[in-house]
Amino acid sequence: MDPMPPVYLDHAATTPLAPGVLDAMRPFFDQTFANPSASYRQAREARVALDGARATVARVLGAQPAEVVFTSGGTESDNLAIVGVARAMRDAGRGAHLVTVATEHEAVLKTVAWLERREGFAVTVVGVDALGRLDVDALMTAVRPDTVLVSVMLANNEIGTIQPVAEVGARLRGRGVPLHTDAVQAALWLDLDVERLGVDLLSLSGHKYGGPRGTGVLYVREGTAISPLLAGGGQEGGLRSGTANVAGAVGLATALERAARGRDEAVRHVVPLRDRLIAALTVLDGVRLTGDPQHRLPGHVSVVARDAPADLVLLGLDRHGIAASSGSACASGRHEPSHVLTAIGVPADLASGALRFTLAPTSTRDEIERTIACLVELIGAVRASGGA
Ligand code: PLP
Repeated sequence: MDPMPPVYLDHAATTPLAPGVLDAMRPFFDQTFANPSASYRQAREARVALDGARATVARVLGAQPAEVVFTSGGTESDNLAIVGVARAMRDAGRGAHLVTVATEHEAVLKTVAWLERREGFAVTVVGVDALGRLDVDALMTAVRPDTVLVSVMLANNEIGTIQPVAEVGARLRGRGVPLHTDAVQAALWLDLDVERLGVDLLSLSGHKYGGPRGTGVLYVREGTAISPLLAGGGQEGGLRSGTANVAGAVGLATALERAARGRDEAVRHVVPLRDRLIAALTVLDGVRLTGDPQHRLPGHVSVVARDAPADLVLLGLDRHGIAASSGSACASGRHEPSHVLTAIGVPADLASGALRFTLAPTSTRDEIERTIACLVELIGAVRASGGA
């Protein structure tokens, strides 16, 4: 048994509830538990809380409350944005072509592939450079008169690269083509103002920034053509039927407000820790950074290490109480290289040595130094044993 306290460096996979979030949620489980769609006093109280959560989210996004749709998470938000807009635009005779980027999360890539296979949409997937950055000119060239949606993530979960979404938004303005961004990994670190980003739809997932798992948001700009995915009671402005998760919405909103308020300080705190970890890893022989060194999430470190299979390194870290990942949580456990590493041209043998460390505003220098010491030893040991 390791007597040291555990170190959690997998915040891109999920985060613990931020301070104050559970307390804010608690009354909505057993006291103010009524269905906010009903008309009696207890229901009105629940509705006030739900409206308050919506207003808070809207404030952080620079949006109107009516433009905020509560969902079950990032996956649902991405699906609703893409399928909902694609179908509504097609049904309005606007076309059936979608544009997205090779390094998007599977919640985006599998959704557009599904629309292509099942519903006859045409899809253009634009490539990225070796740092995972999108070429905005190439993206704009892919946009056609029949394009009904462009989807570009704000920041990548596996390699931390930040995409020039505001530039895409500015270039698309006035073209009548809605722009969606998956901002799931950005919420702790980046400005989410929908006007500055120039986006029409934005996805968030509560559990990536100190909110509860199973909660999400889709921002939908007023006037955007979008159809619901679920038939039912017509909650959330008709876009997301189902009895509202009031506790979840309150928790998500409390965490989002806290993240937005603490963002500048969090970035100032975490960037030196991130850079220390990157520097200590990339001086090792055969270890290199993946993703963009400049346009990079403040809490994100990803590398590939030659001749050091990630599963062995991660097992060794786990034995020391250090939690990290080999890429996206959803992709780990598989043996083929991730689509993101393939898109940035990392060869398969190197991709098997992909490691990801994602920090939080609460990460400490001690944790980083401990992680570095373990990694130096483990990578050496794994190599010495021939990866066996
Ligand atoms: N989009 C990105 C960029 C993600 O990193 C994730 C989760 O890892 C998702 C979408 C899906 O979010 P959720 O797991 O909340 O459905």
